[in-house]
Amino acid sequence: MFFWYSLIFIAGLTLGSYLNSWMWRVHEPARLATRSVAGGNRLGSRSVCIHCNRALAWYENIPLCSFLVLRGKCRTCRKPIPADYFLVELVTALLFVGITYYHLSLSVFSPWHFFRDVFFAALLIVVFIYDLKYYIILPGLVLAGAVVAFIINIRYLTFSIQHLAIGLAIGGGFFLLQYVVSKGRWIGKGDIYLGVMMGALLGWPVIVVALFLSYVLGALVSVPLLVSKKKNLNSEVPFGTFLAVGTLAAMFWGEPIVRWYSGLLK
Ligand SMILES: [Zn+2]
Repeated sequence: MFFWYSLIFIAGLTLGSYLNSWMWRVHEPARLATRSVAGGNRLGSRSVCIHCNRALAWYENIPLCSFLVLRGKCRTCRKPIPADYFLVELVTALLFVGITYYHLSLSVFSPWHFFRDVFFAALLIVVFIYDLKYYIILPGLVLAGAVVAFIINIRYLTFSIQHLAIGLAIGGGFFLLQYVVSKGRWIGKGDIYLGVMMGALLGWPVIVVALFLSYVLGALVSVPLLVSKKKNLNSEVPFGTFLAVGTLAAMFWGEPIVRWYSGLLK
């Protein structure tokens, strides 16, 4: 068993490493274009140092290990490699292992359910980091995610169309309302699209759990920053980052929380 989990861990590291380079390539298309002209390279065919653009050797490109061996610095320009590269690889690998363990402990193993959870864990890692670093929720990414979630949930899992429709209405409507009321000052359009994806992925009533968890987490993180005056009420908030965590938690603990809560009301 240890052997198989090691393989899963390595697969997670590889995926995390890919997510890192994907995010970088999406965010820096202009730099890539000049480089590919200058070097005659196919666009983004090799990984480079983000500071000096030097193409990396194979031993500088191994997830986790290279960062540790190089002590977080580029070998030639000595500038720091951002720590989030390391963390994305580690967290992706750990989530991969955790999700596999979770699915193997279910009474019935459903390949589609497993695939869905791995796919959306990866997607939510991107939403988490991208909003945290750049304050952007990529609309194409989350809307494509909404379509994938909807199809898998309806076609291969036991969601009813009503539950998903209510989930979509709550997820999208909740943020659309805030967007309209505040004329786009509180939240961005990206939050609306992410809300739609959350609805399609989680359905009613788990969407409410995800929103609740996200807001609690947002408050837990924001209040100390406000009190210590590191941020003020006008600071931009990467709310997609909190929503990504709330959504991921609700994917696995949403239904038990709903059952527990409805038990309290009886
Ligand atoms: Zn460098």
